[in-house]
Amino acid sequence: MPAALAATIERPRTSPTPSVRELLAEGRKSFSFEFFPPKTEAGERTLWKAIRRIEPLAPSFVSVTYGAGGSSRDRTVEVTKRIAAETTLRPVAHLTAVGHSVAELRHIIGQYADAGIRDVLALRGDPPGDPKGEWTPEPDGFRHAHELVSLIRQLGDFTVGVAAFPERHPRSPSWTEDVRHFAAKCRAGADYAITQMFFHVEDYLRLRDRLAAVGCLTPIIPEIMPATDHRQIARFAELSDARFPEQLAARLEAAQDDPADGHRIGVEYATCMAERLLAEGAPGLHYITLNKSTATLEIHQNLDLGPHT
Ligand code: FAD
Repeated sequence: MPAALAATIERPRTSPTPSVRELLAEGRKSFSFEFFPPKTEAGERTLWKAIRRIEPLAPSFVSVTYGAGGSSRDRTVEVTKRIAAETTLRPVAHLTAVGHSVAELRHIIGQYADAGIRDVLALRGDPPGDPKGEWTPEPDGFRHAHELVSLIRQLGDFTVGVAAFPERHPRSPSWTEDVRHFAAKCRAGADYAITQMFFHVEDYLRLRDRLAAVGCLTPIIPEIMPATDHRQIARFAELSDARFPEQLAARLEAAQDDPADGHRIGVEYATCMAERLLAEGAPGLHYITLNKSTATLEIHQNLDLGPHT
């Protein structure tokens, strides 16, 4: 680990973490890290190693994604509760409407509330199996994320985040529709949004302008996904429809026999994006860790922002 990085992560936190709503209302920036629930014991160890490395940075929150079904969902709940119980971090639980009746969603939200978790990222989710397939809601479930936002708001004093799409949601027939439905999530009670991954700063800025034009000023936190290996590019295309920069793809491909060089290129690109987004007034950054901490910690270190609470 570089000495400068070690110095930053050893700095102690000094005060309890406010909610994203409180933080942004004070005009402060939010810095957060995203994890997913691991499937194996080895994965669990890797995850906790990453969490413990990030903890001394005192991020605004860490979030845990919600799986497509079954046991991975239970693991989301377990990991999120464990973060709340055993660390100094503020966990944000992702929750999707996929395959759930409203009664089940109420139950999960109740479980979070019982564990003292008051932060939820409310998502519609994608069809299980083929994320690009036809979306069919449960008979007693929700069709769209704004309904889940309303439910969470009704159930207690939660801080609620939603998803935003700098290149438009792939199912939205037009920007007009996309912006209209995003604004509906905000009216339903969303405090902030986190974007889908993207690699062109202009896409984020255009989305923000489009929303501002219809009076929607909900803070939109850009997601930072460091691409450090050319083999990730196909996976990114599967996960999102984000346009990947040709030049970055070519540089990563040229570095395919030198993982350290690929890592350096990816961290450098993501750092430049993050710097520009903050300079343009983005309310913070949300780093995708893929349950590893090194690349995201290095980006954060490069930005030289220090602890945030
Ligand atoms: P919605 O806001 O419901 O939008 C979905 C589509 O429906 C959009 O095209 C929208 O314009 C349209 N729409 C909305 N309301 C209406 C309406 N009233 N009438 C007609 N059309 C409407 N997925 C997971 O499974 N687990 C996760 O943990 C997870 N985390 C994520 C985190 C982030 C930051 C992001 C950006 C995405 C995440 N996703 C996750 C993926 C997400 O669930 C999918 O992208 C999903 O397709 C969209 O969810 P949404 O909440 O934006 O849905």
